[in-house]
Amino acid sequence: MKSTIASILSSPNLHQDYNVYGWVKAFRSNRFIALNDGSTIKNLQCVVDFENFDKSLLDQITIGSAIKIFGVLKESEGKGQSVEIEVSKVEVLGLADTDEVKKTILQPKRHSLEKLREQAHLRVRTNTFGAIMRIRAKLSYAVHDYFNSNGFFYVNTPIITGSDAEGAGEMFKVTNLNLKDTPKTTSGDINFKEDFFGKETNLTVSGQLEAETYALGLGNVYTFGPTFRAENSNTSRHLAEFWMIEPEMAFCDLDGNMDLAEDFIKHVLSYITEHCQDDLEFLEQRLLQEEKSKPEKDRSPMPLREKLDFVINNQFKRVSYTEAIDILKNSKPNKKKKFDYVIEEWGADLQSEHERFLVEKHFKCPVILFDYPAKIKAFYMRLNDDQKTVRAMDILFPGIGEIVGGSQREERFDVLKSKMEELNVDQDELWWYLETRKFGTCVHSGFGLGFERLVLFATGMGNIRDVIPYPRTPQNADF
Ligand code: ATP
Ligand code: MG
Ligand code: MG
Ligand code: MG
Repeated sequence: MKSTIASILSSPNLHQDYNVYGWVKAFRSNRFIALNDGSTIKNLQCVVDFENFDKSLLDQITIGSAIKIFGVLKESEGKGQSVEIEVSKVEVLGLADTDEVKKTILQPKRHSLEKLREQAHLRVRTNTFGAIMRIRAKLSYAVHDYFNSNGFFYVNTPIITGSDAEGAGEMFKVTNLNLKDTPKTTSGDINFKEDFFGKETNLTVSGQLEAETYALGLGNVYTFGPTFRAENSNTSRHLAEFWMIEPEMAFCDLDGNMDLAEDFIKHVLSYITEHCQDDLEFLEQRLLQEEKSKPEKDRSPMPLREKLDFVINNQFKRVSYTEAIDILKNSKPNKKKKFDYVIEEWGADLQSEHERFLVEKHFKCPVILFDYPAKIKAFYMRLNDDQKTVRAMDILFPGIGEIVGGSQREERFDVLKSKMEELNVDQDELWWYLETRKFGTCVHSGFGLGFERLVLFATGMGNIRDVIPYPRTPQNADF
């Protein structure tokens, strides 16, 4: 029977024969092989009775090699593991040359995260990346699990689109390189502007507008797919390609939207605290090591799992934009001009330093900011009766900043139409979106949560490039 190491270790059948495949993590005294197959952070100890073995075969085995072993599962007397395999047969599947391994991050020692990024094709074989990517996969499962068990339907919104939901102009254009179909300009050059069979198209920045139209037919829906932003921001929180989770709910106002977002985040985080214990433990230890090298004032106040439990078990603080501005205006860093950007007026957009101040210094918990000035938010957000603010919300997280952006959507045809006019949103392009407000319109809401920001928080990592297999940033689209 072929078994994964995770399944052997979680329900060991003593005295049973096992076939196990994996990569050699360590090889000691020509007798102990630590084998890992990626299914868990834990290695399987394999004990070779080397008296009865072809020594030349054992000599070949190096760290990083792929092997298959066959043997009996026994209780282990050694420290660090409760079971081990007594190996009766080893098959070498793919050797790893020791000199070549030394040139890579597969060489067992602590490599910097920057170094790991340069070898994105190998980094998943390291303990750190194995742990992050297993957590990412489990979180992704938990997302679908949550929505499915709460009556949401998964809809796939288009990747290629003619519209720019945010109107922020942060889109990548789609180019048709099938030259025979590519429209030409009068001078015979390729017309790159309209080369999606005569139309201008972009990669989506958000599936929201399309998802909204589906919520107005299926009730509760969500999309969870790749989105693209041509923003040249080299921060540790932005990628040019990231995955976004976007639920949209009919018959749901902003309060319902906030309730759902909070409940959803707590559910998916609690799912991984239950199902990724070994990986979280490993990452926590890794972070604690890292923290020791920092000056005391920069150290994180809570270990990883405590931080996750804190978020799962405490209510997010709900604060209106207006209250937040008052807090910021009266806060010490503002008065002493320690913020780079001082908030003086109601109506200003918050910078990430303000968001972090509110979350990390003032409230010391996740914060939901709501009712933002209409002027700094997108056209589709529901205008409040004060005519100044919209029913928008952002969820801000410690160490991350904005993790969610959402709103109640403007459901009134006339108000939406005049808002589009006011903000120069192309009505010829978005006629279909506006039209939904003519037929059985209703209060509805939704939000967008950047999946990588969630993974960042869940793993305690500091850079978004380290929580996605192949990060796309202004410097990197090679592999
Ligand atoms: P930010 O203020 O951080 O640039 P945003 O307000 O531009 O984010 P939204 O358009 O509100 O982002 O998108 C919804 C969510 O998608 C954000 O709350 C965030 O979690 C995530 N997100 C936005 N841009 C990026 C990006 N470039 N890389 C990764 N995640 C992103
Ligand atoms: Mg942005
Ligand atoms: Mg923002
Ligand atoms: Mg936002």
